[in-house]
Amino acid sequence: MSLPWETVIGLEVHVQLKTRTKLFCGCANKYGADPNTLVCPICLGLPGVLPVLNRQAFALAVRAGVALGCEVANVTKFDRKNYYYPDLPKGYQISQYDRPVNRKGRLEISMPAANKNIGITRVHLEEDAGKLIHPDTEGSSGVSFVDLNRAGVPLVEIVSEPDMRSPDEAHAYLAALKEILQYVDISDCDMEKGSLRCDANVSIRRPGDDKLGVKTEIKNLNSFKSVAKALAYEAARHASIIEGGGKVQQVTLTWDAIAEKTVVLRSKEEAHDYRYFPEPDLVHIQADAAFVERIRQALPEKPAARRDRYVKELGLPAYDAGVLTGDKELAALFDKLRGEGLAPKVASNWVMKHVLAAMNEKKIAATTFTDKTRRIAELAKKVEAKQITGQTGAEIFAWILGTPETASVDEHILKQGLAQVSDAGALEAIVRDVIAKNPKVVADYKSGKPSAVQALVGQVMRETKGKANASVAKDLLVKALEC
Ligand SMILES: [Zn+2]
Repeated sequence: MSLPWETVIGLEVHVQLKTRTKLFCGCANKYGADPNTLVCPICLGLPGVLPVLNRQAFALAVRAGVALGCEVANVTKFDRKNYYYPDLPKGYQISQYDRPVNRKGRLEISMPAANKNIGITRVHLEEDAGKLIHPDTEGSSGVSFVDLNRAGVPLVEIVSEPDMRSPDEAHAYLAALKEILQYVDISDCDMEKGSLRCDANVSIRRPGDDKLGVKTEIKNLNSFKSVAKALAYEAARHASIIEGGGKVQQVTLTWDAIAEKTVVLRSKEEAHDYRYFPEPDLVHIQADAAFVERIRQALPEKPAARRDRYVKELGLPAYDAGVLTGDKELAALFDKLRGEGLAPKVASNWVMKHVLAAMNEKKIAATTFTDKTRRIAELAKKVEAKQITGQTGAEIFAWILGTPETASVDEHILKQGLAQVSDAGALEAIVRDVIAKNPKVVADYKSGKPSAVQALVGQVMRETKGKANASVAKDLLVKALEC
């Protein structure tokens, strides 16, 4: 039986910024275009060109830093990170070495036992490289392609302290990071499109040890699940090496998601291997206090604060508040429905039930409903006022989704005859009919089974295609059965 080990994890997350153009040229920052159509002499690294910093990208990097509680540097500069790779035509990447835009932040993660702060070492700005495409079809005869549309796209690299102690904590950190970056609207953080990528550093040590063990780095993890699995695999691999009397080698690995194991890419490179030196073509940047303050003031409310407010001020259950704030657009939709005069719990019920169901079923985003809130609120009020039944409400909700905001809910209800029937006169004939057709249920009721009346209510609902007011129908049934 081996002694327990403590796993120590630090993450480096690359996030593509939501800018209109690339970091140092005017090419569009866009996903999905034909290969090598979004390029120019600057991002192709042709001789004689000069980079010019994208102001919006810089502002977004500051915004990311402020949102993560970092200190924003007064003066920041760019450096060249030199290495050779076919997706990097210049032979160097413009990044930041000793004077990053932001340092010393923190991110709170919620774990079952308690919340925990994870330190953020730095958040710096850099350009992305291109993308290599290795066709795996037969007949490609080992030829690979390079697409430079992504070369020069602005990224922030967010480096954490080695503060995480389990793959679960790493997973929680990534989820919290993604949530906050989406909230402050600096990136869509879509891992499938590569706009959020994660490298993980992992080592193990005996609990209580001050010294860190030898770490390995796992590159390019492309899903939260891979991160958790790769970290668990790697920590176990370290333990078995050390317990077998060996030493962990400091290497860079990749995660083979199919074989579910790590594979060595190369021996670990150190910072000096990259021969960093100041980028001579770009000036130092001074972010004055007023500029940073303006960005701080313009930050939207953070998800955790919004969640708290929903619970404390609006009285929503914690579960509802968690679901709503889990997607910024969903929370915005909820706020908009409240703005249309719905009570918090009513607005929440409609979002949690109908909106989420439609989003899952039709694979649509919450923003699809943004221009439909007036009619959804109108509909919700009618259901609340029992002018229509809940079932009819769900049908009209589907109709709203497929029609423009100008189509009138009232007219639709009138035309389709969807109004709830609460009028005793209109229901009495149906009640009599249902009683006549169900002698067995009636006998059950009369022999002392009052619950049998529910089956008859169900029949009335069926006869009226769900439009009867169920409680009026029940009253009428009981009255008729008692006499
Ligand atoms: Zn370009």
